[in-house]
Amino acid sequence: MPVELPPAFAFSQSSLQDFADCPRRFQLRYLLGQAYPAPLGRPLASLDRSLERGERFHRLMERCWRGIQLPERVDPLVADLWQAFCANPPPDVPQAFRRVEFSVNVKPSWANGARLTAKYDLLAYDPDGGALIVDWKTARRPPRAALERRLQTVLYPLLLVEAAPSLFGTALPPERVTLLYWFGEDGGATERFTYDSESYAADRAYISALLARLNALDAAEFPLTADLRHCRACQYRALCGREQVSGTFEPEDTDLFPDLDELRELIAAAAASDDFVL
Ligand code: SF4
Repeated sequence: MPVELPPAFAFSQSSLQDFADCPRRFQLRYLLGQAYPAPLGRPLASLDRSLERGERFHRLMERCWRGIQLPERVDPLVADLWQAFCANPPPDVPQAFRRVEFSVNVKPSWANGARLTAKYDLLAYDPDGGALIVDWKTARRPPRAALERRLQTVLYPLLLVEAAPSLFGTALPPERVTLLYWFGEDGGATERFTYDSESYAADRAYISALLARLNALDAAEFPLTADLRHCRACQYRALCGREQVSGTFEPEDTDLFPDLDELRELIAAAAASDDFVL
């Protein structure tokens, strides 16, 4: 039986990453709507704190970049991140066009009919310069090679190039797009990825192949990953018989979980569900 996606399903970096890491996780999370969260406790209590810090810092950044007056006293849970931001804000943010918590949705011809979506923490553009995507990370900075492999690093600039004609009224050459990760727990250190035409072509082919692989699967055969590292902090270990895989959670592992907006939706769905399994 072919795979049936929920109506109006849009692939995000998070859902594509799930599929790339483990088809079974994608199936549980997005096709079967398997409930989250797992029971609180170590090490997931640490995850909850990291998610809460991430959530509050993103709301603070949203207010800051929207020009909404900030509270007199910064939330103690994110005070260190705020200090890092004040000392080291992202440099050279274009001014002509700025959007905060901004989503783009595209259905490119090369995506096998799939809809793709990206939500930018901060998107800034200058017609005379280029576009800058800023993503706030409240964790420590991982090695650049690990970031390079993330679907977020692939999808964010790719979708901006795709969306540019309708968004800015003109095509945007890949060379004029930069993705900047900002790391609060590293004092505001950044990692910058400048896009180019070669990467753009390779990324289109990669995403297209990933979607084709998903479409070719039978609904009954979403295999478990052979790479047990992906199970380490996965909340579905009990369902997969992989409880024995060490579950030590590190704050930088938050990328193993859906992004905050997707997480909110999953929690709401879980609360409304009679099938709260975990
Ligand atoms: S526990 Fe492992 S095999 Fe099961 S869904 Fe998670 S990552 Fe996949």
